[in-house]
Amino acid sequence: MSNLFKYLPSVDSVLTRLEDEGVIGGLPRTLSRDLVNGFLDVCREEIKGGVITEEKQLSPDVLFPRLTCHVRAGAKPHFRRVLNGTGVVVHTNLGRSLLAESAVKAVTEACACYSNLEFDLKTGERGSRYSHVEKLICEITGAEAALVVNNNASAVLITLETLAKGREAIVSRGQLVEIGGSFRIPDVMTKSGAFLCEVGATNRTHLHDYENAINEETALLMKVHTSNFRVIGFTKEVSGGELAELGRKHDLPVYEDLGSGNLTNFSGLGLMREPTVQEVVAEDVDVVSFSGDKVLGGPQAGIIVGKKKYIDAIKKNPLNRAVRIDKMTLAALEATLRLYLDPETAKREVPTVRMITESPENLKKQAQALARTLRRELDESADIGVREGVSRVGGGAFPEQDLKTFLVTVLLKFKVTVEELKEGLLSTEPPLIGRIEEDAFCLDPRTLSREEYKLCAEAISQILK
Ligand SMILES: *Cc1c(COP(=O)(O)O)cnc(C)c1O
Repeated sequence: MSNLFKYLPSVDSVLTRLEDEGVIGGLPRTLSRDLVNGFLDVCREEIKGGVITEEKQLSPDVLFPRLTCHVRAGAKPHFRRVLNGTGVVVHTNLGRSLLAESAVKAVTEACACYSNLEFDLKTGERGSRYSHVEKLICEITGAEAALVVNNNASAVLITLETLAKGREAIVSRGQLVEIGGSFRIPDVMTKSGAFLCEVGATNRTHLHDYENAINEETALLMKVHTSNFRVIGFTKEVSGGELAELGRKHDLPVYEDLGSGNLTNFSGLGLMREPTVQEVVAEDVDVVSFSGDKVLGGPQAGIIVGKKKYIDAIKKNPLNRAVRIDKMTLAALEATLRLYLDPETAKREVPTVRMITESPENLKKQAQALARTLRRELDESADIGVREGVSRVGGGAFPEQDLKTFLVTVLLKFKVTVEELKEGLLSTEPPLIGRIEEDAFCLDPRTLSREEYKLCAEAISQILK
């Protein structure tokens, strides 16, 4: 075994050959050296582990194809595109919303050129970065004032810090949610310096539960969207409107964290009725916050709307600077919101909204088209089918509720199990993410564009090679 080590090529000779073959053109020398060292370490482990047992396994002809793959894989950016075949539209792990074309253009321009980010073109003096979207948000939601921060998590934090620090905020026990990534309402409350006063039972909270808990320490009545779970059966929740009325009676602000916060009326898709942001604002809730990149379909942002006096107070909070949005977000958000000035335009142009509202008839046609592309590319090596299935909205919107779809099923013939296929597709170019259902690997066309069908086919054929 020990004499095998001496047949390993030197780092420099390998680097020279890679350079000659154009594999590492443009790569920084330190990175290519690290990659080669990493590969040679793998070879050493394989010698020790008895995987490499003969000199000829270390010959350039055997080593170089592997090495080239290793270096090419390592040279790719770590953060990159994937194909979302899961059918989960707002998939937080896969980047949530895709931006509309006009938003992409706005971002590109905002990055490549100087802009009036904080410059007033009327006076030639300093302006406010928030001025670009506040009016637009108010127009769409019907609110008096608005503010945009880094994400909805920071919107919750800054709102609680501004309105309830050192005092009590009353929340229903059934709404003390954990969103994921350790964002829990009770913990955020603690961080904000507000004291949580939980009322009601897990399944039922009445208006008198809030009213009975009000005391001289109470600063805020809060409602939270139970984004990622559903309580069914014997349940009762107090509406934003009822809470707003109670707040007025006791001169207390009412804040609703809507989570996803839809601007679109999604009725007619078989989903449960959820009030839109506009409806919650119309119920006279004082402050409402929601995400920019969940079902709204814009960039990551937290949008806070409500009564001017409260929004002004939040704007003045020093934390605001710590959670402010950048110019790319601002550009994308303004462009996305402009599409909402006409709800039909939003349904057509905002990818997230379009994917959620896609009709089962169209999805069936898309599934058939995807199946055709896969059959053409994979020929005899796979069994491709189409069957009915369900997609999810994701992103904490419409939890546990199904959207009807059509799935393309893929079964490979040559001894590749569905699990191996699913795992293998994580390292294709680009990676393809799907799911296994009833022993078949499934792709949902809801979250794939037509241009991506060919890429799906190529990814699967890479597994066969
Ligand atoms: C998603 C969500 C948040 C966090 O929003 P981000 O935009 O992910 O920061 C907060 N509250 C609720 C109820 C949510 O659903």
